[in-house]
Amino acid sequence: MYTENDEEDWSMTEKLYDLDAYAREFTAKVISCEECGEGRYKVVLDRTLFFPEEGGQTPDKGTLGGCPVVDVQIKDGIIEHRLECNNEPLTPSPMGQIDWKHRYNNMQQHTGEHIFSGLVHAKFGYDNVGFHLSDSIVTMDYNGEITPEEIALIELEANRVITKQIPVNASYPGKETLDSLEYRSKKELSGPIRIVEIPGVDTCACCAPHLHNTGEVGLLKVLDVSAHKGGVRISILCGFRALADYGLTRDELRKVSHLTSAPLFETGEAVSKLKNELENTKFALGKAKRDYMESLIDSTMEKGEQPIIFTEGMDSDVIREGVNKMTALCQGFCGIFAGDEMEGYSFIVGSRDADCSELAGRMRTHFKAKCGGKKEMIQGHIDAEMHEIKRFFS
Ligand SMILES: [Zn+2]
Repeated sequence: MYTENDEEDWSMTEKLYDLDAYAREFTAKVISCEECGEGRYKVVLDRTLFFPEEGGQTPDKGTLGGCPVVDVQIKDGIIEHRLECNNEPLTPSPMGQIDWKHRYNNMQQHTGEHIFSGLVHAKFGYDNVGFHLSDSIVTMDYNGEITPEEIALIELEANRVITKQIPVNASYPGKETLDSLEYRSKKELSGPIRIVEIPGVDTCACCAPHLHNTGEVGLLKVLDVSAHKGGVRISILCGFRALADYGLTRDELRKVSHLTSAPLFETGEAVSKLKNELENTKFALGKAKRDYMESLIDSTMEKGEQPIIFTEGMDSDVIREGVNKMTALCQGFCGIFAGDEMEGYSFIVGSRDADCSELAGRMRTHFKAKCGGKKEMIQGHIDAEMHEIKRFFS
């Protein structure tokens, strides 16, 4: 363990990502480094490029002194990095590298969110009261209802804002400027307030790294909308993540298109047709099974054979109906066994005058059958040969 604090006046971590959202590497001094179990260390630096988990956004990834940074948290202005070090000591002035692809993707999503929320606020006066940005999803919760048609218009307008390549400005205005400024904010803020402004579109208090220009968002696509606490939850994707999502969606659609032999944009209709056909086939098959079962029972009854029938590929409801029919026609035990000697038989046995639950006990003892039920009817599974079962019942 290594601890050093040679800067007397150090009280909080300097946020290098505030100074330059596009910087990828930095060096810093270790303020403290503590082992926290499982080969992990908690490291505080005098300054960092790692954006912590804050304001609904998951933290930056990357390496510090060559060790993977697995989590970054902030408390009272002090940013703490969690490292997987494998017990190798960290140098007093390590070099840090953020995962730039991950960070840039997050910046695309977050600036996209500001554009969308700014437009929603200007048009409806609603606020984004719950923002969540992780590696896989971006959701915004607005405290008012917006129709799908209105959302489509906001989406189109957001993409117009993107094509206009408007500069995105981040600053810490003085108190006077701040007091005269109208800006969106999720909570009552204290301390220096960072304002992210997209002129003509949005002004918002925000601590996260942003793009220099709306054009870098590239694309904003609404994925889903759902009702949420009297308002709406909207999920979006921007930039390269939107492109990746478009690729995956297209791949899946192509698979369905090949499987259904339908053109890409007629796959919904093709699947609906297949589903109908499947339902009709299931219905016809069910009827055929019932008819077959009826004929099996009729011929068994006509020949005056033991009412223990063996069959294959029968559904439990058809078997149950068959057993009910037989118990109405004859005395003693009536049963239907469906399956084969390899996989065993699923069965139902019923009777109107004999005790089936007593029979279940004997079957469990004799065959180690798994079965149970009531006096009138039992069901279960048995691993035995057909002739053994027949002998047992005769
Ligand atoms: Zn923000």
